[in-house]
Amino acid sequence: MILTCAVIIICTVIICAAFHCRKRANWDGLKHQNRILLKQMDNLAYRHSKLEQKLTDLKAHNFKQSEQLTTLKMQKAVMFGIDEYQDRAILSAIYPDNYAVVYPALALAGEAGEVANKVKKYVRGDFILDDDRRDAIGKEIGGVLWYCAALARDLNLNLSDIARQNLRVLEDRKQRGVIQGDGDER
Ligand SMILES: [Mg+2]
Repeated sequence: MILTCAVIIICTVIICAAFHCRKRANWDGLKHQNRILLKQMDNLAYRHSKLEQKLTDLKAHNFKQSEQLTTLKMQKAVMFGIDEYQDRAILSAIYPDNYAVVYPALALAGEAGEVANKVKKYVRGDFILDDDRRDAIGKEIGGVLWYCAALARDLNLNLSDIARQNLRVLEDRKQRGVIQGDGDER
C-alpha cells in the first residue's frame, strides 16, 4: 500500500514537473516570438519613416518641378507675345528703307527721352503719379517698345531671341554675383 502511494506520488511529481517544464518552454518560446515581433515592428516603423521622408522629398521635388514648368510656360507665352507684337507692330512702319536701322535707333532715343522727361516732371513735383499719369508714361514706354521692335526687325532679330538672351545674361550675372558693376561683358 505504502509502495503504491509512493509510486503514485512520484508519478504525480514527475508529471507536474514535466508539465511545468513544458509550460516554461512554451512561455520562453512566446517571449522569444514577442521579441522577434517587437524587432520586426521597429524595422517596419523605421522603414515607414524612411518612406515618409522619401514621399515628402518627392512632393517637394514635384512642387519645384511644377513651379519650373509654370515659369517655362509663362516665359513661352511671353516670348510668343513679344514676337507677335513685333510682327504686328512693324506693319505700321512707314520710314523709308534707306533709313532702316538709323531711323528707329534715333527715334528710340527720342522715345526714351520722352519717358525720362515725364518722370523728371514727376520728380520735380509737377504732378502725382495717379492712374492717368501712369498711363501717359506707359504710352511713352509703348513708343520705346515699338522702336525696339522696328530696330530689331531692321537688324533681322526677333524680340523673343533678344529677350531670352538678355534673361540668360542677367541670370548668369546674378549667379556669379556681378549684377552690379560696369561693362557689357562682365
Ligand atoms: Mg512718344
